[in-house]
Amino acid sequence: MNVPSANPNPLDLSGLHPDTVAVAAGRPHAAGHPVNTPMIPVSNYDSGAGPEYARGDGTDGWRALEDAIGALEGGKAVAFSSGMAAISALFDQLPSGAKIVIPDDCYQGTATVAADGAERLGWRVMRLPTADTDRWVQAAAGADFIWMETPSNPLLEIGNIAAVSAAAERAGAVVAVDNTVATPLLQRPLELGATYSVHSATKFIGGHSDLLAGLVVCADRKAGWDGFANLTRRRTYGGATPGTLESFLALRGLRTLSIRLERAQANAMELAERLEAHRLVTKVRYPGLASHPDHDLARETLDGPGAMLSFELVGSAISTDVRLSKLHLIHRATSLGAVETCVERRNKLAGQEHIPPTLCRLSVGIEHVDDLWADLVQAIDGLVD
Ligand SMILES: *Cc1c(COP(=O)(O)O)cnc(C)c1O
Repeated sequence: MNVPSANPNPLDLSGLHPDTVAVAAGRPHAAGHPVNTPMIPVSNYDSGAGPEYARGDGTDGWRALEDAIGALEGGKAVAFSSGMAAISALFDQLPSGAKIVIPDDCYQGTATVAADGAERLGWRVMRLPTADTDRWVQAAAGADFIWMETPSNPLLEIGNIAAVSAAAERAGAVVAVDNTVATPLLQRPLELGATYSVHSATKFIGGHSDLLAGLVVCADRKAGWDGFANLTRRRTYGGATPGTLESFLALRGLRTLSIRLERAQANAMELAERLEAHRLVTKVRYPGLASHPDHDLARETLDGPGAMLSFELVGSAISTDVRLSKLHLIHRATSLGAVETCVERRNKLAGQEHIPPTLCRLSVGIEHVDDLWADLVQAIDGLVD
């Protein structure tokens, strides 16, 4: 059922910068209306004039979030209860025997969905290194569905969305990009030719480790518009609807994304440089460093190097764990994209055996960089090998 937009008199956003769209989109803009879409907990509507029941017809709050993310990325967005709900709804559209390409350095939840489909539905899943554009372009010719994740996580490799999307278009394959790490402010996959852009809004969009939500943004192309209808249907009957509070908080998070990202990126750049010069650090991966193998491609496709970096330490997995245990300020925690800095030694996780044993992924927050550095240095230097 098509329900009109939550927002009377929405602003004409054409020509505005993404930072402005993140603030201005998805709001009422009419005399006497609140400037925020109100948070109205509701499942049921009086019938006869449009919406009837919230699982299928939605709520003003989640439509406001969809309007805003859709406006930012240039497509129509469908919001879900989590990033994995969004990803599963997209993969659920693939038929038995589908030929799928996913990255080596893939979000583990997505890799699991692909592996389950291989087992139950005979999907043929090929895994490729994110940065090896030639192999992705070749693989596009025989593929039905191409899943990219760039920058990848935790290896921070850069994929060439434009080149892969052009090859996929020629071959009739569909490209979806997990844009969680880049955020809609740094990368807009639909503008680069992808059909879908996917977010875990749990991460940078929400930005405060206080919600789970996800979105798929669909491009104005046949596959994308069919996808929009199918995804909405999956949400209605799969039931993975975004919550009222979560939608409100995700949209509120989006309002400050540009300044959070500005500070987090500046911190990440500074920490990457300082870590690179530290005698106990053997490698730093950050797209903003000139030493990054895809530094130039990152500058072409991204509007900034982002707030995620990885570093490797001398020593073993065990000595790295001991060092990380000495951190006071920085959280040893798995998630990313929040205002507080979090670190994780990734190789300890199931499915992450390909990650070097001492690699620590840092999701850089908005604290003062000198406090973060002091905490890192006392932890790294605190163990004498
Ligand atoms: C967290 C994450 C997801 C899954 O999102 P949830 O909101 O946790 O379900 C998908 N992709 C990436 C890159 C993520 O970081």
